[in-house]
Formats: sequence, structure tokens, C-alpha cells
Amino acid sequence: MAKPVPITIPTEPIGSIPRPLELVDRVAKSDSEDPGLAPFYEDAVRDTIDRFEATGSPVVTDGEQRKYFNFATYCVHGLANTAPDGFTIPFADGHTRQLPRLTRGPFRYRRYADSYLDLAMRYAHVPVKQAVIAPSALSLLYPAQAIPDYSREQFIDDLLREHETEVRRCLSKGACKVQVDFTEGRLALKLDPSGNLLNSFIDLNNLALSRFSAEERRRIGVHTCPGNDLDSTHSAEVDYAELLPSLFQLNAGNFYIALAGEPDRRHVLQIIRRHLRPNRRIFIGVIAPIDPRIETAEEVRDRVLEASEYIPIAQLGTTDDCGFSPFFDNTSTSRDTAFAKIRARVRGTAMAAELIGARR
Ligand SMILES: [Zn+2]
Repeated sequence: MAKPVPITIPTEPIGSIPRPLELVDRVAKSDSEDPGLAPFYEDAVRDTIDRFEATGSPVVTDGEQRKYFNFATYCVHGLANTAPDGFTIPFADGHTRQLPRLTRGPFRYRRYADSYLDLAMRYAHVPVKQAVIAPSALSLLYPAQAIPDYSREQFIDDLLREHETEVRRCLSKGACKVQVDFTEGRLALKLDPSGNLLNSFIDLNNLALSRFSAEERRRIGVHTCPGNDLDSTHSAEVDYAELLPSLFQLNAGNFYIALAGEPDRRHVLQIIRRHLRPNRRIFIGVIAPIDPRIETAEEVRDRVLEASEYIPIAQLGTTDDCGFSPFFDNTSTSRDTAFAKIRARVRGTAMAAELIGARR
């Protein structure tokens, strides 16, 4: 019998973990930037990283405990030159979330995500990844009617520079990966089935990616999903056959693709196989944060084995379909459930790696 070849299949989270209820309550009664909240944020980050590491996860995040108000607008929250009545994201269950609208130039971030890394890396004993919002999402802040004395072109210049600065700061502080959240990619096809909006998003994000070297892009990834808020999605009905060929035009080294919640995983895996390019790692979602049921490690193992029929092991990784709480006030999933699901992902991925290694 051949000696088993030990193999490792990388596994990474997407980012968010539900905030402790006490923190959500305190922020609701005060202001997200009240200095008095600092110890509560710090406790939340420390506890999140402790529990993350206890799952055996080889890569952790700070659970986005301090991203306020959500994964998309954390960098612009509180800007004086915005109004609350911007682009609205409609979810399948009827609820909506709204982005701010830029009222005048120039456009600058109020905070960069590397500020979260400082605290996370103080507590973590394993590599930390950092998620940032895609330029395409923030491009929606510019209103349909142009702002006087601040053209859309000027805005895009400023936006790309701010995004590049944020990613560079995260890379230089030692984030093992920087993940660009691109949930609006799939939504774009729902809003504009012609594909023009999606293509404009891809072009914009590729302009951003082109500012980085091939070496840097190996540490940069892109996350796609149908949205996840209050146990609902915004674009699950859009077929991956429409999205993935365009998505894979993005010049990134890693792709984090929601798959566990798809009705026909093999259909998606076939599309991935058809459009897969060399030197890219595909992290497939093996956990559905939207599903209250906790997956077993055996289920995860079987999903990884299934994916390995389509994606070469050297290019395969696993992840969760999405963050567990992309919006600060979403407590529809408990922290206990989130960590139990992550534990199943980590164990199931290792079980699959062991089986695949034994077969070689
Ligand atoms: Zn997501």
C-alpha cells in the first residue's frame, strides 16, 4: 500500500461574527464612537479571537466587532459630506438596507480597516485576515445626478486611491489575506440583467487590483455571495452561470465563493471548473450562515470531496458562504451557533484532506 501523502486544504472565515448582545445594546443607546465603549469593543474582539482559535481555525478575524455600521460603510460612517438617503439594497424577505449618499467632494475614507488589525493582532496567535469593501460597492455612493464641482471621474480617482491605501496598510501590517467584499456583484445582475452594471463593477475593481504586484495579489481575494442579512438574501436567484465568467476576470489570487446554500452545487462546480485559471485558489463555501442548523463535520467533508472532483487540490480551499453578521445589529445567529459551524468547517476540511492524502 502506498504511504499516505499528508496534504493540507486551506480554510478561512469570511469575516463577521455576531457581536455580543451587550455591545449591540450599548452602541444602540450611545454612539458607535463613544470613547466609553472602547473596553467593550476590546472585550468583544478578545473573546471573538479566543473562541475562533478554540475552533482550531488556522486563520482568524476580529469578527468585525468594530465595523460600524456594516461591512460596506464602516470606512465612511460619520462623514460630514454624506446624507442617509442613498442606494437601497432590497432583500428577499422585504426588508431593506440603505447606503449613504455623497453630497459633495472630495471623497475620503474616515477610517481604514487596518485600524481593526492593530487590536486583533495583539490577541491572535495565528494569522489574521482582514476584509475590506470593494470600490464597486462604494461607487454607489455617488448620486445619479452629478455633484456640482466634483465629477464622477474625480470621485472614482479619489475612491481608487483610498481603497489602494486601505489594502496597502492592511498588507503592510501583516494581514495574511486581504479579502475584498463584492456582494454587489451578484446583485448587479439582478438589477441589470444586461450585465452592463456588473461589467462596470468588474472594470472598476480590476483598475484597483492593477495597482498591486502579482506577489501582492496572491494575498488579495474577492468574496462573492447572494447577501446575508436577517436570514435573508438579495440575489440568490441569479444563476452563477451568469456571474462566474465575469467574476473570474478579476485579477485576484483568491476567490471566496458561497456554495453551501446553492440548490445545485455540482452545476456551480462545473462552471468553476470551466472558467478556472491557473495560480488561483478557490475557497468554496461549505457552511451556510443563513441556515440555523449546524452542519456536521462529515457533511463538510463530503462537500469538500465533491468539490475536489472539479477543482485541483492545489487550488482548493474552504470557507463559509458569508460572514455570520455583516450588519452590526444583526443578532439572528448566536455566537455559539457561528463558532459551532466554524468548528465543523475546520474539522470537516481536515477530514477530507486526510482522505484525499490517503488515496494518493
Ligand atoms: Zn457575503
